[in-house]
Amino acid sequence: MSTLLEVEHLKVRFRSMGALRALMRRVKDPYIDAVCDVSFRIGRGETLGLVGESGSGKSTIARALMGLIPSHGGSMRFDGTELRGLSQRAYKPVRRDMAMMFQDPVGSLSPRLTVRSLITEPFRIHGVRDRDMDAETRRLLEMVGLPAGFAQRFPHQLSGGQARRVGVARALALDPRLVIADEPTAGLDVSIQGEVMNLLAELQDRLGIGMVVITHNLNVVRHISDQMAVMYLGRFVEQGPTEEVFHRPRHPYTEVLLSANPEPDPDAKLHRVEARGDIPSLAHRPTGCEFHTRCPRARDYCREVAPALSSAAPDHTYTCHFPLEADAKERRLEA
Ligand code: SF4
Repeated sequence: MSTLLEVEHLKVRFRSMGALRALMRRVKDPYIDAVCDVSFRIGRGETLGLVGESGSGKSTIARALMGLIPSHGGSMRFDGTELRGLSQRAYKPVRRDMAMMFQDPVGSLSPRLTVRSLITEPFRIHGVRDRDMDAETRRLLEMVGLPAGFAQRFPHQLSGGQARRVGVARALALDPRLVIADEPTAGLDVSIQGEVMNLLAELQDRLGIGMVVITHNLNVVRHISDQMAVMYLGRFVEQGPTEEVFHRPRHPYTEVLLSANPEPDPDAKLHRVEARGDIPSLAHRPTGCEFHTRCPRARDYCREVAPALSSAAPDHTYTCHFPLEADAKERRLEA
């Protein structure tokens, strides 16, 4: 599958204090690393799921890809074009090909805009004037399974699922090649979550777009992603084909996330594995393996030495000195 997006060793930093304060306090490096050395590749028609707790850096990657915040190292090549270092002006056409679908796509916009205005706004933003907006409205509503009459509705007249469909229509308005969906099913009932996931999967299949799906919900990742990456404190701690990671997780943090996830099979009683304490601050990263303060499998060695990247299978990588055995999940199911 040809590559659509290739990210290598991406790094994003935020200032932790102003220049003057840093000078007065003699802080040499007044930055916090929010994304560290992240690499991934998405082919056309492929989906990458990014999972991890709040603050793990998932949305920061999305914002860096969209050029909404600067990145500080590595590269991001979209269809062969290097995005790092592009001016805001040069980024504008990229944003036409790479659309962002926000968590609350309608609630974040003006309640006075009709659905028609909301879904055709990308045409105005990008100066596309040669299209019939009535025809585009009908096309987009039909694409996401909403009746044409919804065009004149206002956001408060939509259910959660309908609002998400409007968000999908808006994101796809300009036929992007890549969509970044930030928590596409958050706040929805389980049955509506399924509808939205099916819609995204069907449209992706039909249109051949690449997707990055950012979510806390591992069932969403499993349903829709070909590849997944597990993030902790701005790093990928495990990455691989989704089914391989679900069936044979190697990193203890992945095990924690999977064991907190309801199994689709109601007869499967999975022994719960929990992380200790709270997620540490990015400003005070733990030594050695950064997960050691919470890891149920940590040993003394983990506190001192950071684990290198290891491979469990082709395209399945993790960073842990003492990875789970390949059959760990099966054994937990039997416990
Ligand atoms: Fe846990 Fe040690 Fe592996 Fe880190 S290296 S995830 S602390 S077992």
